[in-house]
Amino acid sequence: NQKLVDDNEEILTKQQIMDSIQLGVKYEMEKRTQPVPDSFPDDFKDISMKMFYNWSDINNNNIQDFSYSTYAPSTFHYLRHLFGIGENDYFTTFCKSPLHEMSNPGASKSILYLTSNDKFIMKTVQHNEYISLLGLLHRYTTYMNENRDSLLPKVSGFYNFQCKSTDIKLVSMKNLLPSDIKIHQKFDLKGATIGRKASDNERKKKSPTFQDLDFNYEFHHKGIFLKPDTRLAFLKTIEKDCEILKDFNIMDYSILLGVHYIDSDLQADENTSTNEALRKAATDRWESLMADSVGEKSIQAKAWTLSDKNHASLSGSIPAKSVYGDRLLLFVGFIDILKPFGILQNQEYRLKSFKLKVTPGATETADSIYIQPPVFYASRFLKYMTDTVFRPMLSPQELEKLSQQ
Ligand code: ATP
Ligand code: CA
Ligand code: CA
Repeated sequence: NQKLVDDNEEILTKQQIMDSIQLGVKYEMEKRTQPVPDSFPDDFKDISMKMFYNWSDINNNNIQDFSYSTYAPSTFHYLRHLFGIGENDYFTTFCKSPLHEMSNPGASKSILYLTSNDKFIMKTVQHNEYISLLGLLHRYTTYMNENRDSLLPKVSGFYNFQCKSTDIKLVSMKNLLPSDIKIHQKFDLKGATIGRKASDNERKKKSPTFQDLDFNYEFHHKGIFLKPDTRLAFLKTIEKDCEILKDFNIMDYSILLGVHYIDSDLQADENTSTNEALRKAATDRWESLMADSVGEKSIQAKAWTLSDKNHASLSGSIPAKSVYGDRLLLFVGFIDILKPFGILQNQEYRLKSFKLKVTPGATETADSIYIQPPVFYASRFLKYMTDTVFRPMLSPQELEKLSQQ
């Protein structure tokens, strides 16, 4: 149990932070008994704060006093409703069982917590990300309301935990990856190349998150193949989401891509015993979405919303093929969308490009640096998704030929 030491040399354990988050969410959720606001919320600037003096955790151990604030409670109530998250479900998920810390493959110091049913992730955010979410909340809510098929993260809560000199801002969001079906590969993709490779440490993990260079050279050197109309609809959604992120002056976001191999024998490991019914539902979904030849719009609506009643984890997944003809189901969404391009990022970008210019024999150009002004970031991102990652389907013969190149 790693310890965080604050300025007063008081020790705050990670366990206490997790317990306090739980108590904070529980208190706020118990207070919210009113029905979903039927008009568009306007409490974007409201904060509901509670001091916890002399409380004990759910195991009855004393914990240090802390305060817990919930930002824009009605707005997030409204957003949860929009994302199909029931209040009871949210309450039970956060309040009835403990959170677990996820190991973060990222370079930032953010901590990610996973709820024990794997449905939600709670992530600590940096100060500039917190400021940007406060400023963008109104526009984010409007956008998500008008674009139900958006792939942007489904942010379900925004909080602040304070204890002595520790001050942590947190967001909760839906976990993009299902837990009952095996995800054989996981990629965090941005369209940059410099440094975009999973570290040796990451590779040793049970379920590593790979990056752009691993995708391009090790796993999918010809990309992943989607039915043309599905692909167009899908890329259009990504384009629209990139457009709004550009307007928000945001960069450094990724697409998280989880790949499930339908026909793999490696279905089950000791934790995920993908059951037969789910396996059949996945195959059915793949076949019916692949066979469907209705217009672009309805495919889009279908792929996003076709929910298998008994297999909620499959909804939103997209059928595809690898260059070797493997049948795949893809789980896709944007993550890490809160980093604004400010003075610091501009300086870092300039410094990195300057270093590249003066490095003798450098083969990369400034365009390959991950940090970029939002306009260029968005266009490079979209180009990478279109030209390299999500490719139009080919016939089995063409695929076979391509796989040998
Ligand atoms: P960075 O160093 O890239 O800034 P970060 O601390 O901001 O990292 P993220 O990039 O948001 O963290 O997430 C890190 C990793 O956590 C992702 O690569 C992904 O594996 C996992 N992750 C984050 N958000 C989600 C989500 N909504 N669903 C599933 N996995 C997620
Ligand atoms: Ca990231
Ligand atoms: Ca980040």
